[in-house]
Amino acid sequence: MANSMVDDPRQIREENPFESMMERFDRAAQLLNLDADLYAVMRVPNRELKVYIPVRMDSGRIQVFEGFRVQHNFARGPAKGGIRYSPDVNIDEVRALAAWMTWKCAVVDVPFGGGKGGVICDPLQMSLGELERLTRRYASELIDFIGPEKDVPAPDMNTNEQTMAWIMDTYSMHARHTVNAVVTGKPVALGGSRGRREATGRGLLFVINEAAKRFKMSPPATRVVVQGSGNVGGIGARLMHEAGYKVIAISDMFGGIYNKDGIDIPAALTHLQTTRSFDEFPGVERVNNHELLELDCDVLVPAATENQITSENADRIKCKILAEGANGPTTAAADTILHNKGIFVIPDILANAGGVTVSYFEWVQDRMGYFWKEDVVNERLKDIMVASFNDLVKYADNHSVDTRTAAYMLAIDRVAYDTRMRGIYA
Ligand code: GLU
Repeated sequence: MANSMVDDPRQIREENPFESMMERFDRAAQLLNLDADLYAVMRVPNRELKVYIPVRMDSGRIQVFEGFRVQHNFARGPAKGGIRYSPDVNIDEVRALAAWMTWKCAVVDVPFGGGKGGVICDPLQMSLGELERLTRRYASELIDFIGPEKDVPAPDMNTNEQTMAWIMDTYSMHARHTVNAVVTGKPVALGGSRGRREATGRGLLFVINEAAKRFKMSPPATRVVVQGSGNVGGIGARLMHEAGYKVIAISDMFGGIYNKDGIDIPAALTHLQTTRSFDEFPGVERVNNHELLELDCDVLVPAATENQITSENADRIKCKILAEGANGPTTAAADTILHNKGIFVIPDILANAGGVTVSYFEWVQDRMGYFWKEDVVNERLKDIMVASFNDLVKYADNHSVDTRTAAYMLAIDRVAYDTRMRGIYA
């Protein structure tokens, strides 16, 4: 599970994700000279919901699960963000992830606020029926709080198109008509967007392409290391491989594979899918998830979970470009170390924003009832990712700050502007 990445005793949980987020928020707010009233309102979430979810398990017994939904900010539109199922998800993590959604949507300038949900459960130990009952009861608890104009959930760790289909159906059954815009990341046949499944990985590729251009690195001469092989890492690695990058390492939650001359990524992913492990994949060395992060490479893509790069290992990171596919893979304490090493960071709230960008397209298509071709989706995604990358780099140069700080400043400034124009209802 997610925590196996941080099981290693060398990995210390020096901050929880909420503290990492707040440290960056405070720094950016200070540099922006954010007005005290705006600061007071923007540093806290708008609403937090905690629910207890009874589920009839296959054994016939009832088990009660705990779930959350945090709606962080509505200044720019409905709350937007995924739902994660994990044994160690907690309110602090969901709160941080919800805030990151607010800043992420602002960085790519899509008209949403931020939200996030989580249910404490171990999906690997649950049957499909148990997962369906859990999802439907959780959705029914959220019914008054979510909706196309209020809060629009999406997939995140351990949830997928099927989870979204169940939520959409549960919500629709209570509404007495089909409301497909209540969630994004649905199956295409049920109002999902073409290209949504690959969108986070594709967005990652677009910003890595821009960064590579900036440093005059050509794809075949660029060695890429990817931590994670799920919807972000796996698809990202495949798209980078197809674009000609040399992907030299990739991992899943149990460990990674490495070959300095490059790995046949489609073959490795097929092997992983069919055998559920990278074990016995030929022609590679095995590395664990901590060694993988410290490999000599040009682009490092942590695309698994939070707190992977900390003050403990930041000094041993050897990439030129750090492209954060996961949310919060780097702690705030590690930022300064990476900065002093001259590593160019494409921060999570830009690097992985391709997913929510195409979620926005999905929401638009659902509300129009008119669906776009995949080429159109990908082209529009590219426009947004490339423009956002260039805006961010320009902002960092103009304000003489690193790209992480620039991303927070840019986002907070946009949310602050909208909050000021709307006025604080106090
Ligand atoms: N869970 C994804 C994220 O963290 C996607 C959220 C969405 O599409 O709303 O960005």
